[in-house]
Amino acid sequence: MKDGDLRTTTDTTHPIRTAYSASYFANTSTPSMRKPPLVARGAADAGYATLFDPTPVAAAELAKIHPAAYVENILTGKGPLSHCAFGFWSEDCRDGVLAIDGGNLLAARMALEHGIAANVAQGFHHASSRNGGGFCTFNGLALVAAMHPDLDIFVLDCDEHGGDGAQRFLMSTTHSRLLESVRFFF
Ligand SMILES: [Zn+2]
Repeated sequence: MKDGDLRTTTDTTHPIRTAYSASYFANTSTPSMRKPPLVARGAADAGYATLFDPTPVAAAELAKIHPAAYVENILTGKGPLSHCAFGFWSEDCRDGVLAIDGGNLLAARMALEHGIAANVAQGFHHASSRNGGGFCTFNGLALVAAMHPDLDIFVLDCDEHGGDGAQRFLMSTTHSRLLESVRFFF
């Protein structure tokens, strides 16, 4: 096994249970929600992932971490906070966000059952309780923590910058921790 040789260091005989739905796609201005189909197809075709279709997150689940009025704005596309944090609102974007956060919950459940799991999408780490930010609408990391108050939650954020929304959420709980701004240079 050579350092840096992904092909020889990845076990394709045990593909990772991975949440993904075709609904993850939306025609956003950045690649954020245009790339999931490519990543999912590539990972599945290479034998690294077995895909599982998540149920979109429900409004009642989102209400655990976001005010009902904000959730309603995003669901209906009406109101001052209805821009999906991408600068616009569309049914595709809304449905994609709901599916992706459903995938975050499904991945957490599969990980608890099987030891490891993944979701082909982001955690929306910039979203705060009352509003979105930085292409993030509903905070999937805080959502998983809120749905599992009996567990100790540790978030390792490998994005190049910090997840300010996740930090605000997780700092307010006693059962979750965030290690962020882990930088990778290529
Ligand atoms: Zn970010």
